[in-house]
Amino acid sequence: LLEARNIVMQFGGLKALNDVNLQIKKGSVHGLIGPNGSGKSTTMNVLTGIYSPTAGEIEFNGKIITGTTPSSIAGEGIARTFQNVQLFGEMTAIENVLVGLHHTFRHSLIDVVFQTPRCRKEKNSAEVRAASLLQFVGLADLANEEARNLPYGKQRLLEIARALALNPSLLLLDEPAAGLTAPDIKELISMIEKIRSHGITVILIEHHMDVVMSICDTVTVLDFGQKIAEGTPAAVQSDEKVIEAYLGGSAKT
Ligand code: ATP
Ligand code: MG
Repeated sequence: LLEARNIVMQFGGLKALNDVNLQIKKGSVHGLIGPNGSGKSTTMNVLTGIYSPTAGEIEFNGKIITGTTPSSIAGEGIARTFQNVQLFGEMTAIENVLVGLHHTFRHSLIDVVFQTPRCRKEKNSAEVRAASLLQFVGLADLANEEARNLPYGKQRLLEIARALALNPSLLLLDEPAAGLTAPDIKELISMIEKIRSHGITVILIEHHMDVVMSICDTVTVLDFGQKIAEGTPAAVQSDEKVIEAYLGGSAKT
């Protein structure tokens, strides 16, 4: 589904990514792990067009997407969440999902939010879809709460609902389990399984190894911007280079 070839991302003198290759199979859940600062979030920022890589090429669904804009990449079917939750705090939960759905509207978002007569019908159908997405992530009861008033764990789930509103074929999750309680993490795991069963491919950055072990088919390990291991979660976990990277190296955790 996605292939990244020889990606380099340089920030001044720092090579945050140094010749990284990734191959993501359709229908898989692919883990991206590594110590703090190893380049995981930078990889997601490059894949979603937030950063244009210094070198290298990204092919998605047979199309080269390198150098295009974040919104055109979203339009191609890559959606994401952020390591630091980025919601519209003063909007309600359902309004945040409606923003994710706005590409499905024929009218402008302003028409939709202010419910001009010509788009009332459209808003109704979008609201039905937004409500079902909230239900999917377990937030149906909190639809009318302002996003900023939701507990942090619920905000993370709301971000997943908003990303799914794009109807993506590839979903990138940047540390979705961070800040979640143990029961929330269990729910998250079954939610990712459910997302996969809908045919959506997932790339998952995660520090919680139990989450990685239980749902990833394959895992890539980064250290100092380079790929140091790749394979099944079990193989990667017992890889000596990986153990060393987490014990010393750039690990801060
Ligand atoms: P964490 O687990 O802490 O989230 P990460 O693996 O996601 O770490 P990145 O955020 O990708 O790490 O950062 C990789 C390196 O690139 C770090 O040294 C970081 O300081 C640097 N970096 C990331 N973004 C920028 C930027 N916009 N400008 C300069 N340096 C950056
Ligand atoms: Mg990160």
